[in-house]
Amino acid sequence: MMDNRLLVKNIDVLVTMDQKRSVYESAWLLAENGRIHSIGSGSDQLPQASDVIDGSGRIVMPGLVNTHHHLFQTLLRAVPSFQNAELFPWLRDLYLLMGSLTDEMVYTSSMLGLSELLMSGCTTAQDHFYLAVNNTSFDTEIRAARELGIRFHLSRGSFSVGQSDGGLPPDEIVEDEDDVLADCERLFETYHEGEPGGMIRIDLAPCSPFSVSPRLMEESAVLARRLGALLHTHLAETSDEEAYCLETYGHRPVEYVADLGWTGPDTWYAHAVHLDNEELALMGETGTGAAHCPSSNARLGSGIARLSDMLTAGVRVGLGVDGSASNDSSHLLAEARMAMLFQRAVHGADAFTATQALELATLGGASVLRREDIGALEPGKAADLVGFDLGQIDFAGALHDPVAALVFCTPPRADFSVIDGRQVVRDGQPVDLDVKDLITRHNRLSSEIVSRTEARHGQSFSDRIWHRLATEVNDA
Ligand code: ZN
Repeated sequence: MMDNRLLVKNIDVLVTMDQKRSVYESAWLLAENGRIHSIGSGSDQLPQASDVIDGSGRIVMPGLVNTHHHLFQTLLRAVPSFQNAELFPWLRDLYLLMGSLTDEMVYTSSMLGLSELLMSGCTTAQDHFYLAVNNTSFDTEIRAARELGIRFHLSRGSFSVGQSDGGLPPDEIVEDEDDVLADCERLFETYHEGEPGGMIRIDLAPCSPFSVSPRLMEESAVLARRLGALLHTHLAETSDEEAYCLETYGHRPVEYVADLGWTGPDTWYAHAVHLDNEELALMGETGTGAAHCPSSNARLGSGIARLSDMLTAGVRVGLGVDGSASNDSSHLLAEARMAMLFQRAVHGADAFTATQALELATLGGASVLRREDIGALEPGKAADLVGFDLGQIDFAGALHDPVAALVFCTPPRADFSVIDGRQVVRDGQPVDLDVKDLITRHNRLSSEIVSRTEARHGQSFSDRIWHRLATEVNDA
């Protein structure tokens, strides 16, 4: 058994997020066979282990949990044509670009996006992927997650209502609904690890009210309950979506999906920005969860979710970085910080604490993904933990309260990360990965997806706005 023991010793500050929110100084943590075996501090005798990480000068906390993302969008950061667009026009441009996605792009963007998450302290990632074009494969994302050793939820998404049927996506990227359901079942049977500590899980995730039919929503809920899978979708993101639901279905967004079986402890919505009091109460009463994505909601001008009201109503809330075309940075501590700042901007300086923000990033995400095995550091839970270097410039002068500094200061990158008892980030880099080479390949594909789409549609996405403005000024 000695072979599978990992000891993290000399930890300056150990944040457990246990029931008492215990924080230890001069602490150690022993992992055995992927689980936390024991935690100690002070002059306790150090246990023996085959692998040892020195936590000197580090603050260690439970690995962060992401509850909403679109990894392929790392190829489409800061694209000039939709930098300043709100959701629906932004999506129309994005859909055209998606039509050029290849499986090599899916793999490379998954490796890049998951590495970025790892390097910022995330240990459980989720991806809401909804594209079957040009022989892209959902399985490719799982291959990337396994290579990196990150815990991963693949939320199998889909489009089934194209523009010719009144939906928003172009017809070329929609799928047959029966094919979608069959593939969800295949992925679940092939990959889902439902037991505590499971590294890969499959969720069912039709994309949004304006891109799939009521029938697919309803059938997905039935299938998910038969399999024991979770349900995920975009909901109540913008006022345009609210208007679409009222006009198309005669209901507000949450009312609409509730009628189709989409409430309950096995269900979570991305965004949930535009909720009225009844919808908010319904989510709380039914145990429905939400992925709060404050940066993305701000970037697209969608609004500020009623986070404090959701928590008061008993809604389970985790954080989501969301796709990189609407939040060009994937860093969960940045989202925790944004969540705290927005609630303060709306409700006052004492409305939301750093501890609450860290709870969202750890326990909140674990609860949304219905996982009791992650989110806190306690004996028996998964050995998923991250260390941040307290000696970096961002924390200088903030050591009065190193825990709060994680949220108040510039979001730091992780120094090391352990997932399932294995070290996956060392000295700030994913182990066994040439990050520079990955970035080079990713940049090549990022340029390729844009140029291919420009050639296919005769529309420019890459015309830099500031170049154009400069030219206009010169012309005038
Ligand atoms: Zn999204």
